[in-house]
Amino acid sequence: MVSIGVNMAEFDVDLFVIGGGSGGVRAGRIAASHGARVMIAEEYRMGGTCVIRGCVPKKLLVYASHIHHEIEDAAGFGWTIPHATFDWPTLIANKDKEIARLEAAYTANVEKSGARIAKARAVFEDAHTLRLSTGETVRAKHVLIATGGAPNHGPVIPGIEHVISSNEAFHLTELPKRIVIQGGGYIALEFACIFAGFGSDVTVVYRGDNILRGFDEDVRSHVRDEMEKDGITILTGCTVSKVEKHGKELTSHLSNGSSLASDQVMFAIGRHPNVGGLGLEKTGVAINPANGGIAVDGFSRTSVPNIYAIGDVTHRTNLTPVAIREGHAFADTVFGKRSVQVDHADIATAVFSQPEVGTVGLTETQARAQFSHVDIYKATFRPMKATLSGRDTRMLMKLVVDATSDRVVGCHIVGDGAAEMVQVLGIAVKLKATKADFDATMALHPTAAEELVTMRTPSARYVREAAE
Ligand SMILES: Cc1cc2nc3c(=O)[nH]c(=O)nc-3n(C[C@H](O)[C@H](O)[C@H](O)COP(=O)(O)OP(=O)(O)OC[C@H]3O[C@@H](n4cnc5c(N)ncnc54)[C@H](O)[C@@H]3O)c2cc1C
Repeated sequence: MVSIGVNMAEFDVDLFVIGGGSGGVRAGRIAASHGARVMIAEEYRMGGTCVIRGCVPKKLLVYASHIHHEIEDAAGFGWTIPHATFDWPTLIANKDKEIARLEAAYTANVEKSGARIAKARAVFEDAHTLRLSTGETVRAKHVLIATGGAPNHGPVIPGIEHVISSNEAFHLTELPKRIVIQGGGYIALEFACIFAGFGSDVTVVYRGDNILRGFDEDVRSHVRDEMEKDGITILTGCTVSKVEKHGKELTSHLSNGSSLASDQVMFAIGRHPNVGGLGLEKTGVAINPANGGIAVDGFSRTSVPNIYAIGDVTHRTNLTPVAIREGHAFADTVFGKRSVQVDHADIATAVFSQPEVGTVGLTETQARAQFSHVDIYKATFRPMKATLSGRDTRMLMKLVVDATSDRVVGCHIVGDGAAEMVQVLGIAVKLKATKADFDATMALHPTAAEELVTMRTPSARYVREAAE
């Protein structure tokens, strides 16, 4: 065994973190700030999914793709923009430069905290011993599994080797003229809108009856209408059953008997927790049979007392801020003498489609299942900007209210700025604001958000009679 610790104590480190992503990095830094000797192993690039091939590069591509609409909208405001052209390789190169800068910043911040980085894959030998791909073996008092998740292509179909995931979509050397994207969740839709914004011909294929499963029904239908108006084809109730390649052209055969030709086929049909090949069987760490992630309690403790797990590998709420909060809470609990549990209720979330979705709290369906009296306040309207640009688009704002307590239990917005609005609305929902509090708030004019405090009459009222 190679000892890497500062002394020859029983353990080389107090904390070994597997995975240098959002959650692992936060946990390692905070644990080090509490005085723990920390080592973080990262097999790919520091920063993890969010920074390297998730939220950050995606949002950069979203910004880039929006410029198409801005240019189109400019004419109505009197601007003549000579024929604009777009260069995909330039965008990808600039994006890669920014990601490299962030990766370096992550590395520097971890090193500054006193934690050591091992650029290696780590697997368990036993509950306290990690073997690194460098050959090193490390004995750790506590281990944090923060290995994240990975794209899941679903059942193997003929031609699956021609299919890309979001990982590869960030590195395509050419912009596809035509792309088929299978999936109806946020990653599928965001990439559909990104590619459509660059002028690609986009077809979304989804097995369910409508996109964005789990979101409010009004949001689902509104986003679908808007995406279709923007020229994206959405085929529901079918799947890609086979992909054939002839030269550079791909043919996707669909379960409904039709076929689609394209330059790329991307699947975004879900992500699985990264639990494979970690040597978990040598530790006794249990998997949650309900979701395939590592089973944890409210303190992110696994079934083995010295091993914890946070972030996407636990498959609770797979979002960056949640992984970060869980990592921080773990470090405070185990090394900071302060027990902290993460509250997973009312987490604001967004879909950076075009138009954007922002949502926090309960959907109408969830609220009606939970409360006997539910009031719905809903507005769809043409945003002011569209009056001069001439763009055929509408915004949706919806408040879901528990009519017994008057609490606003759900806010759903589709349209420009939805994510920014819902981040702030999340505070009101967390503070248990009532509809009367919303009504008492003065409107800020002229904004789209003023609609949220000026909707006076419910568009629907639901009363569930008490069971006999
Ligand atoms: C395309 C896309 C877009 C997204 N957009 C958003 C968004 O807009 N907002 C949002 O909140 N979330 C978004 N997410 C989700 C977000 O990226 C994740 O929730 C977040 O990164 C989870 O953090 P984590 O620390 O659990 O894992 P990760 O960030 O995935 O980090 C895990 C790390 O562990 C490493 N690793 C795995 N196994 C080992 C091993 N055995 N040894 C060493 N290292 C290992 C991996 O290489 C990886 O770097 C997006 C995800 C994707 C894929």
